[in-house]
Amino acid sequence: MSLSPRDTPNAHEEMVEDDEFWINDGNLIVSVRSDNGVRLFKIHKSTLSRQSPVFETMFNLPQESAPESEVYMGLPTMHLTDNHDDVKKLLNLVYTPLAVVDSPRFSQSTQEQLLGPLRLATKYEMEDLRQKVIKALQRDWPKTLRDWDLYQETIKAEFNEQPEDSEIVLNSNFPSWTPDPIEIIHIAQECNVPELLPAAFYHLNRSYHASNMGQDRIPPFTRPRLALKTELLTPQDFHQLMIGRQRLADHIRSAGLLSFIRKKQELLHGHSQNSFRVEASLKCVQAMNNYTNDHHFVEATHSKGEDPLNELYYAAQRVPSLKDGICSSCQDFVTARIKRLRQSLWDSLEKYFSGA
Ligand SMILES: [Zn+2]
Repeated sequence: MSLSPRDTPNAHEEMVEDDEFWINDGNLIVSVRSDNGVRLFKIHKSTLSRQSPVFETMFNLPQESAPESEVYMGLPTMHLTDNHDDVKKLLNLVYTPLAVVDSPRFSQSTQEQLLGPLRLATKYEMEDLRQKVIKALQRDWPKTLRDWDLYQETIKAEFNEQPEDSEIVLNSNFPSWTPDPIEIIHIAQECNVPELLPAAFYHLNRSYHASNMGQDRIPPFTRPRLALKTELLTPQDFHQLMIGRQRLADHIRSAGLLSFIRKKQELLHGHSQNSFRVEASLKCVQAMNNYTNDHHFVEATHSKGEDPLNELYYAAQRVPSLKDGICSSCQDFVTARIKRLRQSLWDSLEKYFSGA
């Protein structure tokens, strides 16, 4: 948008008309500098102004007679300082908005198509388009724990459809369902889209574990499909990742294990006057002991924060029932505890990993 001399093409610079966005009845030339000369797009002013109040205002400013460098083939020319690929991807979405909806999930290339447009839609206040892009990104980076669980279910189902063949882990035919979380964290911070952060931080953390722990300890569906671009993490980001991971582990231990210990003490000491109730309480304590010794619960609560949401998801399906000797009130306690623990973990992710 800047018209500073630096951004205005020199007369001898190579100008190339875009092969896709060179619309016959276009009434505006957009010029963007790329690595190999200046690229030109011929598009419609009205299409841009309908989407962006920034462009609308600019087009409505009184036009003084433009210098020669501001006109190309008789049409007004707007020079943008943005990245050429990003501008082209943005125009793709401006002219074919449904492309966002139709883009495949679990795909790094979908993500790559969306990040530039998100940056530009934010900059030029194209709110509709911005929301569409955010919605598309949220299919892979859900905002709520409920959506995260649905997403994990989908991933597991897709994974289980693959033949029993270890090759699939390396096979590029398998959907690359874990786009890079680091890119998402950076853009969410840059463009103020905090709703993308919990899932991105969580996945970054478990992928980091997976890439450092030996893959056999990690369920296949959580293995990073793409090598984590850890070189994109600044030292501060990396430090924050380690701190967040520790806080996650502390959270599970204190909120998860301690509440069970307290409940058991309450049961053991609460009804000492009534021998029938003491016996019933002992059964409940026993059932809870068995439960907290179950490997999913142990994995989740003794982990260093690898993938506790997944372990607790399975633990939630194994809550002791009446046939295990637990009373219905204690069963409700356990069910509610696990549910609350998972939710509070999820709700804390952004805070734990952002240094807040
Ligand atoms: Zn009980």
